[in-house]
Amino acid sequence: MNIGNYVKVKSIEEAYNLLQEDKDNLIVGGGAWLKQTNKNVKTMIDLERCNLNQITENKDTLVIGSMTTLRDLECNKSLKEIDGGILVKAISGIMGVSIRNIATIGGSIVGRYSFSDILTPLLVMDCTLEFFKDGSMTIQEFLSTKKLNDILLNITIKKSNNKGYFYAMKKTSLDFAVINVAITKGKTISIAVGARPSVAALQTEAMDYINNEQVNTEAIDKTASMISSQTKFGSNAKASEEYRRSITNTYIKRGLKEVTS
Ligand SMILES: Cc1cc2nc3c(=O)[nH]c(=O)nc-3n(C[C@H](O)[C@H](O)[C@H](O)COP(=O)(O)OP(=O)(O)OC[C@H]3O[C@@H](n4cnc5c(N)ncnc54)[C@H](O)[C@@H]3O)c2cc1C
Repeated sequence: MNIGNYVKVKSIEEAYNLLQEDKDNLIVGGGAWLKQTNKNVKTMIDLERCNLNQITENKDTLVIGSMTTLRDLECNKSLKEIDGGILVKAISGIMGVSIRNIATIGGSIVGRYSFSDILTPLLVMDCTLEFFKDGSMTIQEFLSTKKLNDILLNITIKKSNNKGYFYAMKKTSLDFAVINVAITKGKTISIAVGARPSVAALQTEAMDYINNEQVNTEAIDKTASMISSQTKFGSNAKASEEYRRSITNTYIKRGLKEVTS
């Protein structure tokens, strides 16, 4: 990666204005992923001085600044209690502590990585993103919009005692997931599948089905086969489409059994 100028801005307004100035200007979070790329950046905009690395606990929510590191999230006691701690479980399986000390939640969301272990649980949690100009949106809305030329300020996660399940199938602990699955159950059941190898997606049709059925073995089996047969999977060096389809079926069944038992 080549960087022309490196600016530690003092305000979000300054960062936003710089971002709009040139298409080759870029926000940096932890830089862990950007460092791996061969981008030519005219001005790299660092938000370190913008006070976005705090986790604020309110009665019903956690408000997480976009510059919060994955390690700070992993160690947060309150987050471990929300939705069965699925976000903490997902984060703690990513690489080693040295990467998690650097990588930020903002970069992990805005990067929209197809291999993401973070977008999958966030899709089934009650959470909202707040952008500087584009305002609030859910993760699903964000993933279905085109790339925004904006700054993610924070993520608000609602506290809940929902049951949760997360599993990332990895060949080795330091590898990217072959597939990952997240499920929550409160009043209704939410299911997301990621690393297909395309970006994580909510399984809305299967959710409509199971949320209108008596949950038993038959309904769980039908939900798993709906997801494994109707979802778009692909092949890459890690696994074939058929293998992904097959193991997704297994992990959806396991997850549904766990959250409904
Ligand atoms: C070696 C390695 C292995 C990894 N393995 C996994 C894995 O197995 N599973 C997994 O889920 N993740 C994995 N990751 C990704 C990691 O978890 C982070 O998601 C990634 O590093 C991005 O976070 P960052 O802070 O480094 O973002 P950066 O690299 O700084 O930025 C990423 C993108 O987000 C943009 N951006 C950053 N912050 C903001 C903001 N506040 N507003 C607007 N745009 C912003 C940047 O412009 C850039 O486009 C891995 C990363 C590395 C380096």
